[in-house]
Amino acid sequence: MAMQVVIAGGGMVGAAAALALARQGAQVTLVEALAELPAVGGVPLRVSALNPQTLNFLERLGILAGLRECGFHPYSQLQVSEGEGPVACFSAAEQGAAQLGAFVANDSVQDLLWQALQSLANVRLLRPARVTAVANGASGVTVSLDGGESIDADLLIGAEGGLSAVRQLAGIGVDGWDYHQSCLALTVRLEQEAGDTTWQCFTPTGPRAYLPLWEQWASLVWYDRPLALQSAMRLDDEALATAVRAAWPRPLPPCAIERRALFPLKRQQSQRYVKQRVVVVGDAAHLISPLAGLGANLGFADVMLLVEALAGGDIDAALKRYGCWRWPQNLAVMTAMDLCYGLFGSDQPLLRQLRGSLLGVLGQCEPLRQLGMGLASKALEQRGPFAGR
Ligand SMILES: Cc1cc2nc3c(=O)[nH]c(=O)nc-3n(C[C@H](O)[C@H](O)[C@H](O)COP(=O)(O)OP(=O)(O)OC[C@H]3O[C@@H](n4cnc5c(N)ncnc54)[C@H](O)[C@@H]3O)c2cc1C
Repeated sequence: MAMQVVIAGGGMVGAAAALALARQGAQVTLVEALAELPAVGGVPLRVSALNPQTLNFLERLGILAGLRECGFHPYSQLQVSEGEGPVACFSAAEQGAAQLGAFVANDSVQDLLWQALQSLANVRLLRPARVTAVANGASGVTVSLDGGESIDADLLIGAEGGLSAVRQLAGIGVDGWDYHQSCLALTVRLEQEAGDTTWQCFTPTGPRAYLPLWEQWASLVWYDRPLALQSAMRLDDEALATAVRAAWPRPLPPCAIERRALFPLKRQQSQRYVKQRVVVVGDAAHLISPLAGLGANLGFADVMLLVEALAGGDIDAALKRYGCWRWPQNLAVMTAMDLCYGLFGSDQPLLRQLRGSLLGVLGQCEPLRQLGMGLASKALEQRGPFAGR
């Protein structure tokens, strides 16, 4: 009999899990709290830098071609600097690749995944709906929904983001802390094409980033103290544009602000990813600072590993492998990010000098840059018994 899976949360990660498992023959129920998914095609707001491994996964899911048509922009260069100090450039060409990754509109990814799900007979889409109770057992799980329905399933996947109800109902705790920083994401309309270089510049109060998007759109990401950004949020578009220029350490092309959203930054790791027949993926499992553009990539990597493990047919063995491999992998990436955050977020003179020298050496020494990028992509690679399958 087909495996019965309930997935709570139909964001990018939950919907990808639903599609991949349904294609593998599972009977899937996807439970999403929103009555309507966010509209696509307008001015983008939530965007993500996806790495080649994730893009490859989206291609295997059959949505990459559609995505290229509606909110997709490859980038081939990344520049990192501090204030007006040396700039370290990392390019796709140095890696022998055409691109380092691509910026995508989150809503478009979600929309395309839902469209693909709608055509599958072995998928039930419930929206709006929420999980209200979980009776978890060694060989199955009973999931109660707010509409009164109760579903007996082999597996319940929590993918509802950082506040995951499934994680809480299953009694899975979290460890983490507040970064005491927020990030203001701004979508701007440029007077020219956005180019294919993304850059991040560190300042004493937090990094500033420029993300080139499709057509004449770009995203500016401003990391700073929460109070400073709350004040900026209250400004009208023109005053905000002036504040942005004052806060930006590098000159920006002429642009007009079209959309904005403020996000508190939190680091969170579930104490475990698996408890009997409940499993968490994506932001429900881990929250990481958006600085390195990793959160969604880690979430998709969770799904890739889980789905490949479940293909073996032994659910308990698959869950054991998922928990044993993904938990430490994600922790290692989060810890490495925290070290970077500590190095670049500190205003101590010694650390300032150290990072200035580091960026200076990286900027001038191509072999070292290549080694750095090689190590970074190795660290993010999906490792474990399913790698390369
Ligand atoms: C400013 C910013 C920039 C970022 N940039 C990048 C980047 O460049 N690259 C990258 O890889 N990552 C990036 N991230 C992280 C990335 O956005 C997240 O990791 C990713 O969106 C998580 O997807 P998810 O599907 O796990 O969770 P979510 O996107 O939070 O989706 C959760 C879904 O569950 C639904 N839901 C919520 N509660 C319930 C419930 N009780 N029952 C049912 N459904 C529910 C929600 O409506 C939603 O549809 C960034 C994050 C931020 C804040």
